[in-house]
Amino acid sequence: MLSYRHSFHAGNHADVLKHLCVMLVLEKLTIKAKPAIYIDTHSGAGLYDLVSAEANKTKEYLSGVSKILQYDGNNAVVRRYQSLIKPYIDKEVYPGSPVIANEILREQDKLVLMEFHNTEIQNLKDNVRESNSRGKIAIHHRDGFEGLLAISPPKPSRGLVLIDPPYEVFSEYQQVAETLEKTIKKWRVGTFMIWYPLLSKRAGIKSGESQRMRQKLASLDVKNCLNVELCVDNLQQDCGMYGSGLVIINAPWQVDESLADVLPDLHKLLATASEGSDDQKGFSVEWLKQEIQAE
Ligand code: SAM
Repeated sequence: MLSYRHSFHAGNHADVLKHLCVMLVLEKLTIKAKPAIYIDTHSGAGLYDLVSAEANKTKEYLSGVSKILQYDGNNAVVRRYQSLIKPYIDKEVYPGSPVIANEILREQDKLVLMEFHNTEIQNLKDNVRESNSRGKIAIHHRDGFEGLLAISPPKPSRGLVLIDPPYEVFSEYQQVAETLEKTIKKWRVGTFMIWYPLLSKRAGIKSGESQRMRQKLASLDVKNCLNVELCVDNLQQDCGMYGSGLVIINAPWQVDESLADVLPDLHKLLATASEGSDDQKGFSVEWLKQEIQAE
């Protein structure tokens, strides 16, 4: 049985990093007029009520998206993300990955949204129906790992897959790597973005598992593999999830440069650890493998 509900965490620092990366990659993929596809294997509900009891139990959005709204710097990517989410926040809702993608995609593009949870799939259908959809949207009530493999390679073949599991179950780390290994054999040109949490020792056996998964992903038979990480908390405080990261396989051209520009501002906005208390810089953008960058 699935028990994870993203409404407790919507708009936190990890969502901000992930959704800004989704926006950036889709912007690059839609520069050319050719159609593109966006596949979300773990879509969630699409929209999250920021005044709900769930959101206000944890108030994680206060140290995430609320800080973005206060941004008055010059970074164009943060500015674009800020103006993309502002109309939603004004209505006291936070837009999840399917809605962010839908905002960027055009008439010629396609969205495939998968969600396994019985309640969240209904929420997703209702929320996406309400938002303005330009591209063609298909919503599947199914296991996203099985679903991705089944529809690969999709048409069009230019596109982004977001793999964003809850990692509630330890086997999900392994499932991500195994699914990608098989999918990449069928669909070599897709861009795959895999989100993962950075967990302190308090997480027990899950601590360090994201880093092991990241190494497995980098060893897959792919042309390039970019990694971005943002730590918001001091590891020594043993704070649970101290940050998050994404592996981007077949990252579009110049995404690395845009991310390297944006991370210092994001870190300044979102980090809660006091300066100098940790030996880490707090963020990184690095190639785990780099042969060719996709256009
Ligand atoms: N991607 C969303 C976003 O950024 O707005 C958040 C997704 S949330 C982290 C993970 C979602 O995956 C939950 O809604 C959960 O119900 C769903 N889920 C869990 N296991 C799944 C599976 N095997 N296939 C598809 N969805 C699954």
